[in-house]
Amino acid sequence: MVSSSATFCAFVLLASTGVALAQEGTTTGVAPVVPVAYSCDPNVCKAPACMCASKLPPGGLDPKKIPQFITLTFDDAVNLPLWQVIQNLTAGWKPNPNGCPHSSTFFVSNQYTDYSYVTALHSLGHEIAIHTVNHVGNSPAAEIKASQEALNAFAGIPMNQLLGFRHPFLAFNGQSFNNLAGLGTFLYDSSMPEDSVASGFWPYTLDNGPAVGCVSGTCDGPFRYPGLWEIPLNTLVNADGSENSPMDPNAVKGGTVGGPTADEIFELLKSNFERHFNGDRVPLGIYLHAATQVTLPARLEGFTRFLKWTQDNHYEEVYWVNNQQLLSWMLNPTDLPTSKGSPTLGCNLPAKDTSNPEICDGIDNKGDGQIDVGLVENCAFPPLTYFSTCYGCPSKVPNVTEAVPTRAGNRALVPAAGCGAGVWDPTKATCVPVKRPGTAPTPAANLPIPAGPGKFTPGTAPVIPPPAPAPAPGTPGTGGSANGGGNSNNSSANNADSVTSAFSTLFAAVIGAVAAFGL
Ligand SMILES: [Zn+2]
Repeated sequence: MVSSSATFCAFVLLASTGVALAQEGTTTGVAPVVPVAYSCDPNVCKAPACMCASKLPPGGLDPKKIPQFITLTFDDAVNLPLWQVIQNLTAGWKPNPNGCPHSSTFFVSNQYTDYSYVTALHSLGHEIAIHTVNHVGNSPAAEIKASQEALNAFAGIPMNQLLGFRHPFLAFNGQSFNNLAGLGTFLYDSSMPEDSVASGFWPYTLDNGPAVGCVSGTCDGPFRYPGLWEIPLNTLVNADGSENSPMDPNAVKGGTVGGPTADEIFELLKSNFERHFNGDRVPLGIYLHAATQVTLPARLEGFTRFLKWTQDNHYEEVYWVNNQQLLSWMLNPTDLPTSKGSPTLGCNLPAKDTSNPEICDGIDNKGDGQIDVGLVENCAFPPLTYFSTCYGCPSKVPNVTEAVPTRAGNRALVPAAGCGAGVWDPTKATCVPVKRPGTAPTPAANLPIPAGPGKFTPGTAPVIPPPAPAPAPGTPGTGGSANGGGNSNNSSANNADSVTSAFSTLFAAVIGAVAAFGL
């Protein structure tokens, strides 16, 4: 997993399907296997516990009168290089029509991840999901569980929000699905590519098995997982009607020689958008690896141009949402005008206001251009592992056998149920009330998690205490460097959300060197 060749060396040949997989979902254009027999009675399989696969939107809604959802997901390690890609990709974006920022889902593998960036992405409104600790396909339960626990502990993501999983390499089988479902803490998997021309299903539950052919994995065993959602990866379609790659789409069928041009990427995305938008409005998915964007800047330009095009041409109809928002809307489907005020597509806007205290959450809470000053700790485990966290450096690298090693200091872990509209302050071990700008819809209540042997009980968010008086300058949370921070003040930052200069610049070069190859 360390060598640079890892990016493109994981080549698996599936003899049964004739599909060659290089890395995650990069198919070589061979037709998918015929979907397995699938039947589902909507009179028996009913929301919210169950939902049949369908090409049509839920609730019997007219496809022409619903939002066009676009889900943009990223896989693998989260660190400085990925952060820079996100900053470049999203610069200048307008929010969704309901005032919420566009939101992506990040399937995070822990190896090479810098936890502070995960914290920051979550605070900005993105969904954090699981991708194993060491990027292992056909994933063992321990890899899944430890990844979830470490992201909860060191990035401060509440357990009841870590609900999604994607198999590394999109490689799955009956055992790995048994592992995932058996943990009882997951709402959905998103690992199955589907032929979006032949099938093009909305997400559905696996009560009746998979509705699409198992192109990248093996649907062996009974393969019935009541209540566990599958969010299929809708493959983009080329101009000649053939399928593109499920992930990191190429603009030219079958090859990446020289890389696609920005124009080719833009035209591919635009034509696929129009096919969805003018059709049944099945959600359009764009599934990326940040490393691919870093190494092929033309792609970044093509994606950026497409993002702007959707906002310039279909602003009122398009919602860029994360997977949890999509499922939440599907459980409470509404037409386009009603969706604008629906909590299913709601959000907590980043907690930025001059009246806020500065909290260790990756956000410029006070709105003064400085982020988490003096609060983040840098953790070094040479030669390969360097990260920063608000939750105390562990005594060793978090791993499969010990996801949360003994931690230095007295930072408190986030409650399993989070803080609702407040923000968790790990230095004070309490939920802190914060002022947020605007009046965007608040997010929906917790999504239902299917029953499983280890079922996690979300509980309710802790009661937020009344506002405390403003602390004196120099105390933790207001600046200074008293807490072993090693941060540099970001007083010259024009972009208040750019944590690049506030986080661990000390280790950035090292992290950057290894992170691009953390697929
Ligand atoms: Zn991956």
